[in-house]
Amino acid sequence: MGYAIIAIFGVFLLQGLIMDLQRTDQIPFSEFEKQLDEGNIERVTVGSETLDGIYSEPVDGKTEFVTRRVQGDIVDQLEEAGVEYDGKVETDFWTGMLSWIIPLGIFFALWYFVIRRMMQQGGPGGQLMQIGKSNARVSYEQDTGTSFEDVAGIDEAREELEELVAFLKNPQGYGRLGAKVPKGVLLAGPPGTGKTLVARAMAGEAAVPFFYINGSEFVQMFVGVGAARVRDLFKQANEHAPAIIFIDELDALGAARNSQPGMAGGGNDEKEQTLHQLLVELDGFDPKSGLLVLGATNRAEILDPALLRAGRFDRHVTVPRPDKKGRIDILGVHARKVKLADGVNFEAIARLTAGFSGADLENLVNEAALLATRREADAVEQVDFTAAIERLVAGSEKKNRPMSEEERVRVAYHELGHAYLGLALPGADPVQKVSIVPRSIGALGYTLQRPIGDRFLMTRAELIDKITVLLGGRAAEAVFFEDISTGAADDLQKVTQMARAVVAQYGMTDTLGLIAYEDGQQTQGGLPQALRGRDHGDETARLIDETARKIVDDAYDRAKGMIETARSRIDTAAQRLLEEETLSESDLRSQLAPEPAT
Ligand code: ADP
Ligand code: MG
Ligand code: ZN
Repeated sequence: MGYAIIAIFGVFLLQGLIMDLQRTDQIPFSEFEKQLDEGNIERVTVGSETLDGIYSEPVDGKTEFVTRRVQGDIVDQLEEAGVEYDGKVETDFWTGMLSWIIPLGIFFALWYFVIRRMMQQGGPGGQLMQIGKSNARVSYEQDTGTSFEDVAGIDEAREELEELVAFLKNPQGYGRLGAKVPKGVLLAGPPGTGKTLVARAMAGEAAVPFFYINGSEFVQMFVGVGAARVRDLFKQANEHAPAIIFIDELDALGAARNSQPGMAGGGNDEKEQTLHQLLVELDGFDPKSGLLVLGATNRAEILDPALLRAGRFDRHVTVPRPDKKGRIDILGVHARKVKLADGVNFEAIARLTAGFSGADLENLVNEAALLATRREADAVEQVDFTAAIERLVAGSEKKNRPMSEEERVRVAYHELGHAYLGLALPGADPVQKVSIVPRSIGALGYTLQRPIGDRFLMTRAELIDKITVLLGGRAAEAVFFEDISTGAADDLQKVTQMARAVVAQYGMTDTLGLIAYEDGQQTQGGLPQALRGRDHGDETARLIDETARKIVDDAYDRAKGMIETARSRIDTAAQRLLEEETLSESDLRSQLAPEPAT
């Protein structure tokens, strides 16, 4: 506003100036009167403020003049002097235009110059321009031109996503019987596994428009801008419903509000306001209109719980790194774009690329095609792929590098140790799947257990069984390898916590009795446990440690014993797991737990 007012004043000022400057033949009114008296004026055009006219005889080499009109009856004077006179059409279009354009031009040039300088200095002007350039772009596509054909290796997520597509195709029909209509769906998985791709594919499959916005682009904006943009986004999408709104990198926006180190106190207002607006919009729209909000993140665990509540992003779809079969399929999708030689073996390539994401594989195909081009081959051959893998693996960071064969074998046995005990022990949660595809940084493999519904109570036997399952990984390493590894660190942390709870919280041992020595609360009265001090003496503390240790030791011996007896079954299962990278519940049952033959 300030700028606009100053600019308008400036324009008026300059306009006046220019009007005057335009005419070099301006004369004072007294001079005009003098010439009039001398009879040297031939014609005059009378304007409301000026008089222009022509001299009979040139004065100072000029034949024309202009003067400001002074009060008085000019017409009488002119009549008296016998001068020809005329009125004037006041708006002189070109003069008017010029007197506007020039000052405006000057102002814009100045403004541009100043802003540029400020941007270079990184001052507040930098942000000023970002608003203008709309840093957080909402992109809109009527048709993404992508379909599920373009996405491979996510079979588990696919079914759920297809259901959502069915909803988008017929939002009214979906809610016909009062079924709860989906609103927000969170796609969670490591980078490059195809979250963005699958979101676009859903829009393509459902033939609905796709609104895209990236959470990380909100972060540097002025307070209020992000919120306004979110509001606008939902408004537009609503007008185009059924539609998909896709919020990429949701974690940049929706990280839990107090999880920002160094942000204590003031916090990041912009982010909070934007997040808040997002929550308002999520609550506000009627899902029956056919609007579906998809969010993508690779760090679902840091999201603000408010975002994940019912009616918001309450459906979670995991998009994991592909296993071997998945990688073969993804290679198939991307190899369509290059000319392949006969005899390229995707299976062998997939075997060599454990841990690669979909994006890595796309990159691999491209790299292989480049190598083939460079050696002027007619088609991309197996050798190109092998060379490309070597190149990519050497160039990638450690955390993305596929595991070595040795590590894979160890991880396979470790996970099968968990899985076998999970199947064999009645108190453990059923095992759903075992995988040696790295799921996140640090976790090299995983054993997925399905929690047995909502549980309110756990018995002592169940707790001990759970502890035993957690120790299964380390136990398997001890049984099958000469040495043990660091792979069990996370397991041991959980085990320790549980064993201590058995002793000091739940009062489940005779040694320590029914006293609750610890409350299991991390903080209380604002104080972390470590600072609160404890209510028991050193002797008791030592006893708690010892008793917990005894529980763990016993469970470990039990785990080792059980694994020992199942040695050969675990060996066979490990071969299959190494081959296929994931084993489902039924695979595991048939491999690991043959019913006792009686
Ligand atoms: P994310 O959003 O999960 O980080 P993207 O969807 O941006 O990953 O993936 C980047 C690219 O990698 C995609 O455009 C696609 O070409 C390729 N890609 C990733 N995952 C897959 C997949 N499952 N199937 C086919 N291509 C994939
Ligand atoms: Mg993405
Ligand atoms: Zn483990």
